[in-house]
Amino acid sequence: MGIVFEGVSKIFPDGTAALHGLDLAFEMGEFIVLLGPSGSGKTTACRVLAGLENPTGGRILVGGRDITALPPRLRGIGMVFQNYALYSHKTVFENIAYPLRVRKIPRAEIERSVKAMADLLQIGRYLHRKPGQLSGGQAQRVAVARALVWQPDICLMDEPLSNLDALLRLHMRTELKRLHRELRKTFVFVTHDQEEAMTLATRVAVLRDGELVQFDTPQTVYRKPASRFVAEFMGRPAMNTFDGTVNGGVFRAAGFEWRVPDLPNGPITLGIRPEQIELVDASAADSVVFEVDVVEHVEPDMLIFARRGASSLIVRAPNGRRGPEHGALLHLRFPAGALHAFDAKTGMRLP
Ligand code: ATP
Repeated sequence: MGIVFEGVSKIFPDGTAALHGLDLAFEMGEFIVLLGPSGSGKTTACRVLAGLENPTGGRILVGGRDITALPPRLRGIGMVFQNYALYSHKTVFENIAYPLRVRKIPRAEIERSVKAMADLLQIGRYLHRKPGQLSGGQAQRVAVARALVWQPDICLMDEPLSNLDALLRLHMRTELKRLHRELRKTFVFVTHDQEEAMTLATRVAVLRDGELVQFDTPQTVYRKPASRFVAEFMGRPAMNTFDGTVNGGVFRAAGFEWRVPDLPNGPITLGIRPEQIELVDASAADSVVFEVDVVEHVEPDMLIFARRGASSLIVRAPNGRRGPEHGALLHLRFPAGALHAFDAKTGMRLP
């Protein structure tokens, strides 16, 4: 009885199909992240849920009720956008109070609600200031406070952190998580940043070309990506993938081979995450040798870019005092449990 997108399509008047029969259902109280590359339909899905865009097919249900034709203001949804557009001539207090004034809430209650929300977001000291006198992070918090002060059941946030510098983004991320825990409302958050998705979501909906390609907990999306696309999108640096062929339990790619006793014969894409490749001694049996190209230090780890023949890969390993030199030989092992196999043609995960 949560929120349901039932076969929702959106074809814009110019013929652009932004959503293709999107089916997505989640519970009230979740922190849902819509994740996908630019143009995958995240914003459109958000706008359709908010009622800012009419779907050209399908329905939206909230708590079992069809709200597809309901005007935005009756949907009980608060919104925060990337360009949060505060009223520059109003004080912070008045900006936050605005949704309450529109709803004709009594003055004393407005006073109490605005102060409580401002305290929760740690902007209580700035209530008398104008938006022009705030830092980017403070202004963003005012926008969040304004979206939530009237206690909507659902809060939609479309890339709300993308205008902030890296440190502030991290900080706001933690704040949003705390806010979600304290308010117990449903958060729907749009981003193309997989790290935001990993850290914030109770469940992540990965979109591609207007379709849902996976919907699961961040851990499952990371550990069992439904397709090569998801595997490469979720995780930085991206999963290493190799096109090749399995024959008699051996996978052959350009330049190397590896035992894969459980995989059937035929062309596949084999994947392994950089942090799951093992560096072993030269004397170790069962290893494959790659040559080091470049080493990048991303403390406390290092990224080793290496190649063998036409195959290249990245290894993420704890930083030793010195990384291997360009041209050094690396002995690597791909643990069986860390390997992912995808259909060579469709890119779908093989069981
Ligand atoms: P981004 O991360 O870049 O914001 P997104 O995943 O949010 O992308 P949408 O904004 O939902 O993607 O857009 C989905 C597709 O619909 C894109 O191809 C976009 O160009 C197209 N689109 C969006 N709005 C319109 C419109 N008003 N008219 C025509 N096409 C549109």
